[in-house]
Parts: sequence; C-alpha cells; structure tokens
Amino acid sequence: MKIGIDLGTTNSLVSFYGEKGPRIIPNRLGERLTPSAVAINEDGTILVGKTAREKAASRPEMAASFFKRGMGTEKVFSLGDRRFSAEELSSFVLRALKEDAESWLGCPVTEAIISVPAYFNDIQRKATKRAGELAGLTVERIINEPTAAAMAYGLHNRTDHTKFLVFDLGGGTFDISVLERYGSIMEVRAVAGDNFVGGEDFTRVLQGMMLQKHGLEEASLTEKERGYLKRQAEKCKLGFSESGVSSMKCTAGGRTFETEFSLEEYEENCQLLLAKLRRPIERSLKDAQLRLADIDEIVLVGGATRLPVVRKFAGRIFGRIPSTEVDPDEAIAVGAAIQCAMKERNEAVREVVLTEVCPFTLGTSVVVQRLGDMTESGHFLPIIERNTVIPVSRTDTLYTAGDYQRKITVDILQGESRFAKNNLLLGEITVPVPARPAGEESIDVTYTYDINSILEVKVKVNSTGVTRKMIIQKEDSRLTPEEAERRMEELNELKIHPREQEANKLLLLRGERLYEEATGDLRREIDLLLSEFEALLDKQEKGAIDQARKELGETLDEIEAAMEEDLLD
Ligand code: AMP
Repeated sequence: MKIGIDLGTTNSLVSFYGEKGPRIIPNRLGERLTPSAVAINEDGTILVGKTAREKAASRPEMAASFFKRGMGTEKVFSLGDRRFSAEELSSFVLRALKEDAESWLGCPVTEAIISVPAYFNDIQRKATKRAGELAGLTVERIINEPTAAAMAYGLHNRTDHTKFLVFDLGGGTFDISVLERYGSIMEVRAVAGDNFVGGEDFTRVLQGMMLQKHGLEEASLTEKERGYLKRQAEKCKLGFSESGVSSMKCTAGGRTFETEFSLEEYEENCQLLLAKLRRPIERSLKDAQLRLADIDEIVLVGGATRLPVVRKFAGRIFGRIPSTEVDPDEAIAVGAAIQCAMKERNEAVREVVLTEVCPFTLGTSVVVQRLGDMTESGHFLPIIERNTVIPVSRTDTLYTAGDYQRKITVDILQGESRFAKNNLLLGEITVPVPARPAGEESIDVTYTYDINSILEVKVKVNSTGVTRKMIIQKEDSRLTPEEAERRMEELNELKIHPREQEANKLLLLRGERLYEEATGDLRREIDLLLSEFEALLDKQEKGAIDQARKELGETLDEIEAAMEEDLLD
C-alpha cells in the first residue's frame, strides 16, 4: 500500500487513494492534523504530535518543533541528553504517520510519496528521502507542495495549456509558486515567499489592537497574562471566519477588559501585514515573466487563507475570486494521494524541478534598538534569504553599536531563527575600526553564494578601506555507510510511544501542565485525579479506563476553564 504524506512545518498529514478517491487518514487521536513536533519521554520513548506539544508546554528542553526549517543542514536539536538532526526528527513524525496509516488501513505500508516546498534544493530533498527511509518507507517520489495543491484542484486534468498560481499562507510561512502545465509536465516557473509572515502575525495584530485600545504595554503584563492575551487573540481571529464581529478578553494587574472588534477595524489594522504579501506575488510573476492576466487559476492553501481579510486581499490583488473548495489544510496531502494513484497507473505527472536556490538563510548577528534607548544584542540579520536563486551576492551596511569601539566582529550564521544563538555559526571575521562615537563608523558586509555551495564573505571598513575575506565551503559531512547503519540501529531502538496509550498519555501530560500552573487546593485535587487515573491504568481494564479517561478529560476542561476565569478575577 502506498500513502501520501504532507510533511509540514507546523502540521503533517497522511493520505491514501481509496475506492472513493483521495482520503485523509486520521491519526491515533482521531485527528486529521498531526503537529510536526517530537519530544522524548522520561522512559526514553518518543512522543510525536499533540502529545509532544503538550510535553513542550512544561518541558521545552525535551521537545522540538519547526525542524523542517533545518532540513538538510547540520543543525543539531537537543532533546534532553539526546541529539538529533532535522532529518531524524522528521523520521519520527513519518514513523508515527506510517503506524497510523497501517492501523487505519489494516495492512502494512511500505511506500510513500512525500511533499516538499518547491524551493527545496537537492540537499533538502535527499534529506527528506532519507527521513522516509529511516522511518521504514521507500520514498517512491518527492512531490512539490504547490504541484500537489494544484492536483487537489484537478488542474493536472486540464487539457489546455494552463498557468496557475498557488498562494500558500501557513502558520509562519508564506509561499507563492507559479506553475505551468503542458502535456504531462508540471513546471515550477517561479517561487517567492517570506519565511517570517504567517497566520501567527495576524494573531499578533489583534494582540496589539487590544493593548492599544486599553492603553496597556505588553512589557507590563505577566507571562500568564501574555499567554492569555495570545490565546484570546487566536480565538478572536478564528471568530472572524464565522461573523463580521468577534470579541476578546484580556487581563492586566487584576483588571479585566473585554472588547468587540469589527472585521473592518481588524482589516484596517492588517494593512501593513497584507502589504508584505504583495511583494512576493509581484516578484514571482516577474521571475516567471508573466502578467496577472496570464494566470488561469489561483489556488489558496494553508490554514491562514481561511481568514476573510486574506481572502478579500487575494481577491482584490488578483482581480478575481480564487479557488478555495478544497480544505486549505488538506490540499497538499490530497494531491499527494492523487499522485499515488497515478503512479500505480503509470500516469504520474512529471515535474520540472527548480533546485538552483540557496537552501537556508545566511546572515549575521546585530544589536537592535528596543523601546526607547534600550538595545538588545544577538538578533539575526538575514543577508541572503533562504530560497534565493543562486548565484547571488548581497551587501549590507552595519554601524558601530558602542562608543569608541575599536573593532567589529561579524559572525557568519546559517539558519532561520530570529536569534543568532539558535543558528549555526560558520565563521567569524574581525576588522579594526577607528575609535569614534557609536554609529559613526560603518562596514560593508558582502555575502556571495555560488552554484557550488561556496560562500564568500567580505567585510570592508568604509572609512579606512581595510578589507578581510573568508571562504566557507560546505564539507560533505554525510555519514559513511557503516556510520549510517549504526545510527539507524540507534534510532530504531528508540520506540515511539504505544499508539493505543496515546490518548491516556496526552491527558496525563495535560494534567501535569495544569498541576504546574495551579496552586494550593486545586493542585492537590489535580494530583489526586492523576494518581487515581494512573492506578487505573496499571490495572489494564480497558472499559474502565475509557470511561475514566472521558471523565478526567471533562474534569480537566472544567479546571482549565476555572483557572482562566481565576485569571480574570
Ligand atoms: P497551517 O500551517 O497551514 O496549518 O496554518 C496554520 C495557521 O492557520 C494558524 O496561524 C491558524 O491560526 C490559521 N487558521 C486556521 N484556521 C483558521 C481560521 N478558521 N481562520 C483564520 N485562521 C485560521
């Protein structure tokens, strides 16, 4: 049996092609989306998905997410005292999805088609393939996400020569792809995007609106109040999909505020953010040498395209109503399932792949200006953005941050984090500068990345002309076949937490989080509830456990709601 897998940055899905066409397979919790998160349990088993997310809430050092951004890089993720690459973490997600599919279909699954962003280069595609192999899957094919999304809309069946645009706005990334279909070939003509815009930013707008409305400063809120504000903003945002008004609450210093926002008001406040979406659209069309009028169809995918403000914006910019019939979270997985069926019939769509891009962001660390006079160091400044067509050369000018400093050190970093320390340090260049007041001396930093993955960094002091250079060549750090074999054995020893206990585990982790957040009598009550449940689990009576799980779930819902209310008192 062959399955389709959408291995996403925030969520992953598994699908197959059955008698009734493409279908999404629910996971062990009965849900269609599995968060792309991995954690390690105290007993050494691996947690994947929602349970891993719950673990991350109380033990962030035992969990990892967003590792797709590190695919094909040497970034190491520490989970407790164990260390993994992005490819290995992805393999755990794939293993869990494979198990879910096997249990649901009732037969072994050995082959898969996995989707990747169109801008993934050869290194990243190979890493994805290896992740599949580590999970015990033969990866029949890697399919481009926009191609899969287009297939979910049946665009591969159009007999005429078609050009289309896929607009993919997820939780934290925005990708635009321009595709062209001729004969049985699908060509990605251009890709553009912004790795730092997504649904989360639309939540942040509401947080800002709420604070502004009540004259509050984010810095004055406690961590709990900030968390509450964020959850309320998310809820309020989702409310706009249902109605033209949506309300939210927030608390500050013991006071509670409640406000109803209109969609118009929200839209007005989203203008800056929407403007950010415009540039990649224009760039992709320019790169594809097409005009908007040449595009036959526009497809919206990604959870955040459910937002009415995003849909309206897309309608306006494209001058027509984009296609949205397929669930935007599921379109890519549906397309992967269709590709599975076509592969069986030897009719698979062929793709022309675009791989001449820099796979990761290259930049340096800088000091940024915070509120008023405050500064904060260690922020990442991207110089060459991920997914830029290579060869490429970019220059940025940096200024001295301290009075009378005598040298500037440029860290050469690779990665996607906002914070320099989370990215990979490739090298360092230090240049002397004349001692002058802060901001009066500057350097030009030039990054050049060529087709052979060689990065050259040049730093020039503008007042003196002093120049230093460094060349960084990516060594082939692939493991030898023996090392790879050994690593695979090690990974296989790590068992994924048993499927049938997943719902119980999730509940216990949730209870533990609430215990940590609660105090006094409530704490004792939660402790008692969890102990009783654990005792019952030991007895292994399925019927009683199922009943107790349901009851405990409801009690925890009540406790959580009461704790939120408490925050409001
Ligand atoms: P994805 O990464 O594609 O799963 O998209 C996740 C993003 O979609 C998150 O930022 C969600 O807040 C957002 N999202 C999901 N459903 C809705 C909805 N009904 N309205 C607005 N945004 C949504």
